[in-house]
Amino acid sequence: MSELTPEFRQIRASAKLDDFFSSVEPELKAYVESLPQRISKMNARSSIKLKVVLDTVDRLYDHAANFAACKKGCSHCCHVSVPITDYEARYIGENINTAPVLLKHSIRHDLSEFSDKTPCPFLKDNACSIYEFRPMTCRIHVNFDIDNYWCLYENWNKPDAIIPRPTIHALSAAYHQLAGKLKPIVADIRDFFPNGKLVSD
Ligand code: SF4
Ligand code: SF4
Repeated sequence: MSELTPEFRQIRASAKLDDFFSSVEPELKAYVESLPQRISKMNARSSIKLKVVLDTVDRLYDHAANFAACKKGCSHCCHVSVPITDYEARYIGENINTAPVLLKHSIRHDLSEFSDKTPCPFLKDNACSIYEFRPMTCRIHVNFDIDNYWCLYENWNKPDAIIPRPTIHALSAAYHQLAGKLKPIVADIRDFFPNGKLVSD
């Protein structure tokens, strides 16, 4: 559907984003808004707190399925940069029984650094092999466009490319609460898990 203009796509996506937010029940919206405060008051390990944040993300984004262009087997987004924090890498590592690389400092990556040739190491047969433990950034990377046109490898670097996604500040704020007073180390999932590893390995 490349003949659709970027403006038309944006208008349709804005309407779908509105529909998505309208579909969320008020109790869940209120819970999401209160999440940063709840997390800051929790006396628990960061992995326990992260699970609370991820479960909330899933509850909220369950409502997005009816409005998003995302489909099972569509995996272009698993080839771009996947930034995660060291505490999220530990959470994944604990759950798949694979220690992440202990990085001493954050590593920045350019948007153009990855391509269709450099998939996330956890992508197997066009599906996420660690789906239950996948990072927050993967859970919220939901495309509200009509289709996956701007996600295609040949399009994602074009100047007009904008993937319409919701920004939910309370979720980001809750996620950043997890580091406490420490400055998290942020790097790509490929830096922490260069070889990946399947849960069933
Ligand atoms: S974000 Fe894009 S590439 Fe990823 S599943 Fe959704 S439509 Fe497909
Ligand atoms: S962790 Fe899973 S969902 Fe996220 S980029 Fe890797 S394969 Fe894709």
